[in-house]
Amino acid sequence: MSKFPVQKLYIGGQYVDATSGETFETRNPATGEVLAEVQIASQADVDKAVASAKEGFAVWSQMSSAERSRILRKAQDILRERNDELAEIEVLDTGKPLQEANCVDVISGADCIEYYSGIAGALNGEHIDLGGGTFAYTRREPLGVCAAIGAWNYPIQIACWKSAPALACGNSMVYKASEETPLSAFKLAEIYTEAGLPAGVFNVVGGLGPVGKMLAEHEGIEKISLTGSVPTGKKVMSAAAETLKHVTLELGGKSPLIIFEDSDLDNAVSAALMANFYTQGEICSNGTRVFVHEDVMQAFLDKLVERTRKMVIGDPMDINTHVGSLIHENHMNKVLEYIQIGKDEGATLLCGGNRVTVPGCEAGFFLEPAVFADVKDDMRIATEEIFGAVMCVLSFRDEDEVIARANDTEFGLAAGVFTKDLTRGHRVISRLESGTCWINNYNITPIEMPFGGYKKSGIGRENGTDAVRHFTQTKSVYVEMGDVEAPY
Ligand code: NDP
Repeated sequence: MSKFPVQKLYIGGQYVDATSGETFETRNPATGEVLAEVQIASQADVDKAVASAKEGFAVWSQMSSAERSRILRKAQDILRERNDELAEIEVLDTGKPLQEANCVDVISGADCIEYYSGIAGALNGEHIDLGGGTFAYTRREPLGVCAAIGAWNYPIQIACWKSAPALACGNSMVYKASEETPLSAFKLAEIYTEAGLPAGVFNVVGGLGPVGKMLAEHEGIEKISLTGSVPTGKKVMSAAAETLKHVTLELGGKSPLIIFEDSDLDNAVSAALMANFYTQGEICSNGTRVFVHEDVMQAFLDKLVERTRKMVIGDPMDINTHVGSLIHENHMNKVLEYIQIGKDEGATLLCGGNRVTVPGCEAGFFLEPAVFADVKDDMRIATEEIFGAVMCVLSFRDEDEVIARANDTEFGLAAGVFTKDLTRGHRVISRLESGTCWINNYNITPIEMPFGGYKKSGIGRENGTDAVRHFTQTKSVYVEMGDVEAPY
């Protein structure tokens, strides 16, 4: 018997049965236990969810921004109150350590809803004086029904990052989580309803890739926002082209972290660890190409390896665990394959890279975090997104050289620079082709700061006031105060 009941669809403010008669299983990757049977939406169910979102939009978009703000604030309160229970669901569904989920995943989602609840009240247009008393003004209006599709690494955070700005701007949403981690988005829907969100404003449909495709193609949807891989991003964008939808894409990366010789090495090592091994390395913005100045290479590697070896691999529900289970067996095999490729390519594996059996979680997919040194730019481990705990350390000598090498990738999601020289820090960052950058830290994503990628890592931005632009459209209104001039 599964831990949770059969997961229905959430449409019109309540659970409803899918009409497809089909389900899929979601499992705890650490134990193999089936958590729930999840119903798969049919085309008719997706149509119903879109129709419900349209009705929800009619109500929600007419409410004052203060009313919308109050409901969103309530939702973030409930998320915080239920943090422990939701964090546990997240651990069961993703295999990530509880020590991360209980202080990051749910709370960062709540932070996001709180931030946009404040912004909701500040969505103003402009007044434009045109002389002679005539003027124009602009209105920032919502787009209508939006769809969003999430990846499996941060399920509730992604659902919040997408729904909060959309809803704050007066849109409604149909959401599809990844088939690997479908449970928490439904909990978010329950919470929005409990907070007073009108029926139909936030709907969740279960399903696999084809359900995402139905959303991307749907005539009744004005915008689609995806977090996922580059190949899926291309499919979503081309499906969305048929109906000329607005598109936001948060995709993969192979980001550089550059450590200059004057860096505080302990901080640089901390950042490299956080940039590679948090959530078993399953993070899109990870700084997986760590460029270290040759003068400090040996000191950096000594500290790095010592600290990596101390990381605790274990049962994700154990609060002391640092490294949990990868999401599924195929993914673990992909990561192991890259570790073998790295060895075959001639990189030096300094530590890690082996599968680990965790007592009580024998069916899980646990790997020791791996550090490769002597990595060359053209090795596959240095050019392809692995999405597991595999760090590539590369040596460099001068600034121009490292900038050129850091930029020599089709991706452009994130980048980090460590140096005590302020001028150099800003100079280097300004030349890196990456959308989200850090100086003297890595992978910190405050809600106030826009997040997103250059090049093949994405289109559009989440978070900050940038997201508001991606969930609204401008209406310009010309107001004539004089007579109408007509030549005939
Ligand atoms: P996928 O691209 O495999 O899937 C992402 C989502 O798209 C899932 O919900 C998936 O459904 C759905 N999907 C699959 N096929 C289609 C389709 N044809 N049309 C519409 N939707 C579809 O990515 P993963 O879930 O494996 O996540 C890992 C990837 O996500 C990595 O590349 C990572 O870098 C990226 N990512 C990017 C982030 C960012 O913010 N930039 C953050 C987190 C991850 P289903 O799972 O049910 O198949």
